[in-house]
Formats: sequence, structure tokens, C-alpha cells
Amino acid sequence: MQSVAYYNGEMAHPDELRVPFLDRVCFFGDGVYDATMAVDGVVVFFEDHLDRFANSMRFVKIEPAWSREWLAGQIQRVVDACGAPSQFVYWQVTRGTAPRAHEFPQVEPNLWIYAEPRDFADLDREVSLVSQVDKRFSYCNVKTLNLLPNVLAAQEAVANGCHETVFVRDGYVTEGSHCNIHMIADGVFVTHPADEHILPGIARKHMIAACGQLGIPVEERLYTLDELMAADEVLVTSSSSIALRACSIDGKAVGRRDEQAYQALRQALSDELAAYVNTR
Ligand code: PLP
Repeated sequence: MQSVAYYNGEMAHPDELRVPFLDRVCFFGDGVYDATMAVDGVVVFFEDHLDRFANSMRFVKIEPAWSREWLAGQIQRVVDACGAPSQFVYWQVTRGTAPRAHEFPQVEPNLWIYAEPRDFADLDREVSLVSQVDKRFSYCNVKTLNLLPNVLAAQEAVANGCHETVFVRDGYVTEGSHCNIHMIADGVFVTHPADEHILPGIARKHMIAACGQLGIPVEERLYTLDELMAADEVLVTSSSSIALRACSIDGKAVGRRDEQAYQALRQALSDELAAYVNTR
């Protein structure tokens, strides 16, 4: 049960695998990725992640010869080789290996896969957030490898003694550096619209579906940091943490006032995840 790295069919421990210097990811971050968890060998919400990965590839015009089924099989190989009961699973495609030049080379894309033993985040953990101006570009709906603003924001959160960032663009909350952010206000689940300013998170998608099942109204609309600070609940979602509750933003206590809705959503998502794993 060790981390496993894969590059174009070759598998090894990540410390041992060597990749080509001229892979375009090194110079341009020229590629897209996706990531989720695997439980008991089952890649969680695999179809959703493969769909989003296909969309990301289409958006950046990376067109590998392999099929979706073949890709799923390669990811499963790596998960099986890792063998841990709970894993973080990551895969990326880069445009290929070629001498550095901005224009696309006529080469085959490279497939990278990585699995490491990792537990889900503790759902009882409450997270502290720090707000920052969202300086990212308008490709946030695509899971590109150009993550420098996200990395800087994540580090800034840690430097402020916090867990995550709340990005604010033109006065409106968008998302976190590696999560989606939502609020429950007056019984309504409010989340930023799935446009080019946020990643359409898979946990977000399942959260919205859970709201539907529980009869919680959903509004996909812009909202301000002041609205978030005043909300009854501030929720943070991602594939590795499902749904966490935020307890502070910029050092001020927030949310934690709609226990019933929060607990119901959290339970619904945990149940859905368990059912997904048990039926595969
Ligand atoms: N937003 C960003 C910028 C992310 O990097 C992530 C996850 O990595 C998310 C949102 C949450 O997406 P998902 O629920 O698919 O993990």
C-alpha cells in the first residue's frame, strides 16, 4: 500500500519514475487534470470525473487517441496497484513532448496517473477561511494545470493561520483555492453559477442534487462576501472532503446557525457516497 505513479504505461514509486524534460507541462503547464478519492478500490463518482476530464480536454484541444474505457482501465490499474482502502487518485494529460515552442506540436499526448493512500477529510473538522481577491483568469471552469494563483492563495490562507481561501472577484464570492464555497441563507442553498469563474465541482453537483432530494431550494447566483459572512451556514465542498462547515472568515465567526440543514446535507452526501461504493 504505497503511492504509485504512472507515465504512459510505465508504473513505479513516484520517487523512481522519471519523466521527459521536454514534456510541455514543464514549460507551459500545457495540460488538464482531474482528481477524486477511491474507497475499497472504487473510484468515487468516476463517471462524473471522466466527463469533466473529457470536457477539459475538449476545451484545450487535447485529443488523445485512447478511449474513455481505456483511460478508466489505466486509472483502475493504478488504484489496484496502490491497494490502500482509501486513496487520493489523480490523473492528467499533457499535450506531449516536444522542443519548447508555444504552438501545438504534432505529437501524442502524455498520460500521468497517481494514487496515494489518503483518508477522507474528517467531516467534523470546521474550516477557517480568509478572503482574497480572485486574480485568476477566465478558464476556471477548465481543470487546467495552470494553478499558480491557487497555490499562492492556498499558501496565503496557511500564512494567515487558516485552512482555505474565499476568492472574491468584482465584489462577488467565486470559490476557494481548491474547493467550492456555498452558503445556506434563510433555508436556501446559494452557490455561484457554474460559469467560467468557478470549477464545476463534482461534490458541488452532488450537493445540489442532495438539496433537491431534501426539498432545500437552490439558487445559483452571485453573492457578496458580506452575504456570506451573514449566512446561516458556510459550506466548503470538494471530492476529498465532501462537505465541510466553515466557522470563520477573516477571523470573524460565521455560519453554524442551520444545524438541521447542514446535518441533513452532510448525511445525504455520506449516504450517497457509501451507496456508490457498495454497488460497484
Ligand atoms: N474549485 C477548485 C478550484 C478546485 O481545485 C476543486 C477541487 O480540486 C474544487 C473546486 C472542487 O471540485 P471537486 O468537488 O470536483 O473536487
